[in-house]
Amino acid sequence: MPVSLPHSRGQASPSKPRVRPLKGTTIVTRRVHFNAAHRLHNPEFSDSWNEGTYGPCNNPNWHGHNYELEVSVIGEPDPRTGYVCNLSDLKQILGEAILTPCDHRNLNVEVGFLEGVIPTTENLVIAFWNQIAPKLKSGRLHRVRLYESERNFAEYYGPKFRGDALPD
Ligand SMILES: [Zn+2]
Repeated sequence: MPVSLPHSRGQASPSKPRVRPLKGTTIVTRRVHFNAAHRLHNPEFSDSWNEGTYGPCNNPNWHGHNYELEVSVIGEPDPRTGYVCNLSDLKQILGEAILTPCDHRNLNVEVGFLEGVIPTTENLVIAFWNQIAPKLKSGRLHRVRLYESERNFAEYYGPKFRGDALPD
């Protein structure tokens, strides 16, 4: 006697196959890479203050970094798709919001949304959050993490984040 698979097509059961959505908050992350030049310099202070504060990053002739950007979106998987957020949509958003304006650019002088901002890693994660968050179609932005080098990175959890309530 043939085994009747409840979800297989063409069996006696007239009901459509159903998926079983799972409940749970999850975080998905996309990582992208870009190169950019910058200079850390606060024109409101003296040259010696700037040299002392920023060291080599104050070089008046610029220098570059190989940045790694990780962007995480949090939410419950959509019961229809199983996705918190479609990573190909996130890839497109990061391309338009961050990579096109920043990759192979000078962050001090070529990026409109960074005008007047000292492009430290800390300031960049806040500025990037502000560019990405309004463009998300599903889920909500959880974390923006930016590596300026293999050992140094900054992260931002959004304007509501307080250090005494660090999200996991
Ligand atoms: Zn630097």
